[in-house]
Amino acid sequence: MPEITAEAVKKAAREFGADLVGIGSIDRWDKAPVENHPRTIMPRAQSVIGIGFRMHRGSHRGVEEGTYFSSYTLTGYMDLNNIVAPVVQRRVASFVEDFGWEATTVQYLSGRLGNDAGEAASRPDGTSKPRPDIFFNFRIAGELCGMGEVGYSRMFLSPRFGPLQRIYFVITDAPLEADPMIKGICDGCQECVRQCPAKALFSDRRDDVDAGITMIKRSAIDVLKCSVAHSMGGLSPFASEEVKNYARNIIDGTDTHLADGTPRPSREEMIKNIQDKVAYAKNAKDVFHGPAVLCADGCVRGCLAHLEKKGKLALKFHNSFRD
Ligand code: SF4
Ligand code: SF4
Repeated sequence: MPEITAEAVKKAAREFGADLVGIGSIDRWDKAPVENHPRTIMPRAQSVIGIGFRMHRGSHRGVEEGTYFSSYTLTGYMDLNNIVAPVVQRRVASFVEDFGWEATTVQYLSGRLGNDAGEAASRPDGTSKPRPDIFFNFRIAGELCGMGEVGYSRMFLSPRFGPLQRIYFVITDAPLEADPMIKGICDGCQECVRQCPAKALFSDRRDDVDAGITMIKRSAIDVLKCSVAHSMGGLSPFASEEVKNYARNIIDGTDTHLADGTPRPSREEMIKNIQDKVAYAKNAKDVFHGPAVLCADGCVRGCLAHLEKKGKLALKFHNSFRD
């Protein structure tokens, strides 16, 4: 059987359409919890192949202007998740298996089959195995594969595209040479925090992860506040004043209470209360079969504008993202 090499895998992935590719050796997951570990999926795994696809900067233009939101939702999110990535992942897995090594793809939406809230789905058979579906941590895996780093915003940043890509993985028992890891794209400027309209990120609350080989330094996130702005569009041009007031009551409140002093709703209650009142968010569920993406003000566009201004990104444009 011919010998497989990391170089050959990366060349093939690029030819199949990947904009980014990197490889992490399995020892980089030594500190990963069993429910996030590639070896829980494939016990003989030796390598993880990361592949990334750029989001076009132009897909954020209409969102930046407040005029055309579906470009990001579709071309920067749903198309990559559901059309582009699965095809390339499959081709990379086939390439690896043609050398006699097993390969499995980790699909972005697979975690949602367990529980959409990202919590453990129970395992009714009473075995000692972890959750029926493993919640592979994509952004940390991207760092472990040497494709970039997790920024303070919690977003994955690459040296070429900054926050503008989505990343996916193939796990294999093939022993492949690992790529060096990358640090130093995020400079801790906290524009992501300052420009978050939902106050969902924090300058003084951290959620660092000691991943052994790397320390992920990132802000804590208030998921309810992010969701009411981002996937529910509570501050978007599609929201009525009533909905905006509902969103602001959450955003200006605390972990336990709304700004008006009443108890804070759960995420499920918030979604129930608001979803049918923002036609765009409801239609996104029905038409795109996924969430609308109606914010990303700070964590994507604010960060992008900052990194471009600092000259940190390899991909250059004739015009700046923001004047
Ligand atoms: S805006 Fe970007 S570069 Fe600045 S702290 Fe946030 S993630 Fe890091
Ligand atoms: S999507 Fe919007 S609300 Fe959520 S963290 Fe990013 S900037 Fe904040």
